[in-house]
Amino acid sequence: MIPYGRQDIPQADLDAVMAVLKSDFITQGPAIPAFEAAIKAQTTANHAFAVSSATAALHIACLAIGLGPGDRLWTSPNTFVASSNAGLYCGADVDFIDIDPVTYNMSIDALAAKLEAAERAGTLPKVVIPVHFAGQSCDMERIGALRDKYGFQVIEDASHAIGGDYRDQPVGACPHSDIAVFSFHPVKIVTTAEGGVVTTNDDALAERLAMLRTHGITRDPALMRNAPDGPWYYEQVMLGLNYRMTDIQAALGASQMTRLGAYIDARHAIRARYDAALSDLPLTLPHQPDWQRSALHLYPILIRDDAPMDRAQAFDALRAAGIGVNVLYIPVYRQPWYADMGFRREDFPAAEDYYARMLAIPMFATLSEADQDTVIAALHDVFG
Ligand SMILES: *Cc1c(COP(=O)(O)O)cnc(C)c1O
Repeated sequence: MIPYGRQDIPQADLDAVMAVLKSDFITQGPAIPAFEAAIKAQTTANHAFAVSSATAALHIACLAIGLGPGDRLWTSPNTFVASSNAGLYCGADVDFIDIDPVTYNMSIDALAAKLEAAERAGTLPKVVIPVHFAGQSCDMERIGALRDKYGFQVIEDASHAIGGDYRDQPVGACPHSDIAVFSFHPVKIVTTAEGGVVTTNDDALAERLAMLRTHGITRDPALMRNAPDGPWYYEQVMLGLNYRMTDIQAALGASQMTRLGAYIDARHAIRARYDAALSDLPLTLPHQPDWQRSALHLYPILIRDDAPMDRAQAFDALRAAGIGVNVLYIPVYRQPWYADMGFRREDFPAAEDYYARMLAIPMFATLSEADQDTVIAALHDVFG
């Protein structure tokens, strides 16, 4: 089976991990700041904090902003459940904005309309989480303008998007957001096995994020309430968590980051071949707006009405042909945990239509030309 996504772990990564295992520190040593420096260099953000997962990153991002009971968090339904679960962890209410039928990201027109209605009703959100689906940035200038108008805060869920650009700036630079979050799960662009990072340019948020990932503890006297009574002294000044990344993971991540540009170029070469080879099939291929360069985490295809098979049949036929297609995402409001909150499918017509048609086909940096050809031939067999 050719998987839809796969990590690449060459000898250099193994050497970097082994060096940490043989060193004095296997967690909270020098590999963490080295990995964070690589993320800051890539994103140009002022601050980057490595954590145990993007889920943890989303959680402390919400906590740092002060999201709590009675507050509202809005996000896209076309995402992994972690984007909205972060709001629930904080006791906030969660709502979803339908997607744009061309980009599959949160519809900014729908967001603008919902904000206008919420302002009248006195139900504005505290946090909006745009998700850069498949590595394609949302139009952050427009979201930033709405943020300024309505006064919410923006956490970019950039789990798919390390190495992507938005209007000639790297995703994670945060010119139109408060915080950006990346995932380093093995299926994403670069990996630390499990891992996440938050970036921000806001010094006050950075101070809180740094403490929230490690129990709410600080060793910086400037942040303490009392004078230190010795060099051993630390203070817990808020309720944080143990969301730290290990040095073993950070070393893997730093080694992976040296190949980020090559990874994104390889994904674009595969996209170009797919675009050309699949254009005559009854499929909607992923649109790429010219004001961004996607990190291409996924290559989503949508099955048109004139195709000989529906999505379920095509899924089975392609899996039988050894193509590890996947469906991403089941709209979050369909999950029983969320449906129990009263969400109705009729309120999300674009997400419903997308979910009925979507397949992700293999897309990862080391996918060989021979395997690309196998994928292309299988798609022609099924849809030709
Ligand atoms: C993978 C993913 C997450 C969660 O990432 P973890 O690192 O596995 O916690 C969150 N949001 C999106 C959009 C993702 O794809």
